[in-house]
Amino acid sequence: MERKWFIVDAHQHIEIGSYIYASSLEKPKLSYEQMIAREAERFERWFNKYGVSYGAVSNISSMVDRVWRSRHGGNEAVAELIRLLKGRVIGQYVPNVFEPPDLIREKIEEAVKVFGFKGIKLHPWVSAFPLNHPIVYPVFDMAAKYRLPVLSHSARSEFCTPMLFADIAMHYPEVPIIMGHMGKQHLHYDVIPAMRIAENIYVETSGSKIQILLERIVKEFGAERVLFGTDGPHDLLPAYVARIEDLDVGEEDKAWILGKSAAKLFNLPEP
Ligand SMILES: [Zn+2]
Repeated sequence: MERKWFIVDAHQHIEIGSYIYASSLEKPKLSYEQMIAREAERFERWFNKYGVSYGAVSNISSMVDRVWRSRHGGNEAVAELIRLLKGRVIGQYVPNVFEPPDLIREKIEEAVKVFGFKGIKLHPWVSAFPLNHPIVYPVFDMAAKYRLPVLSHSARSEFCTPMLFADIAMHYPEVPIIMGHMGKQHLHYDVIPAMRIAENIYVETSGSKIQILLERIVKEFGAERVLFGTDGPHDLLPAYVARIEDLDVGEEDKAWILGKSAAKLFNLPEP
């Protein structure tokens, strides 16, 4: 692919352990170490093939399991990826909001200091908690303390509507909150009003197909509040980039969306 843009993918996943969709009861054929090596290789190849500089990654498994099978419930696999990909992976820690508050705080601190995580990922719909519920406060306390942007799934699920983003964002004005998927196709009308309520709400582009919504957001709030994401990595990357190139916004705005906004938020050097 033509290396025209500085690209940061603000929303990526690995799938080591449990997955959202029910799978067969077959045991995985690869060992844990083999799965990690396979994922590291897959990301490395993908970064190089498409000229993507950084990717923000979390593990689906940690969101699906309510009772964790290890201390960090699968975030360990992301920690391995952070180590193996040497600076290109922005680790997004998935906390278990059903654990006691002190333990949540302790584990996030460990994630930041020991493993080098730089952000938080929440999936209120899959994990079954309202985004603005007090059980999530310990997570936001730590996000405020360590300046960790919080990426959350948004959609028509009652647990993660744009209005709940506005509510928690007002509670924690110092924490950047990234609205993954921009309300998808059903709640797109609520995204701009939510962003008007709280300046610390950012949006991430995967899962939303509505060009006019992105254009309006850039016009009203500026491209700095828009982050490019794929929910991948996958080979649709050129189509996702083309979608941004097709927007009726300035070239500089496109550069912010594709990489600069995330680089600023996560404090990443531009190569
Ligand atoms: Zn996600």
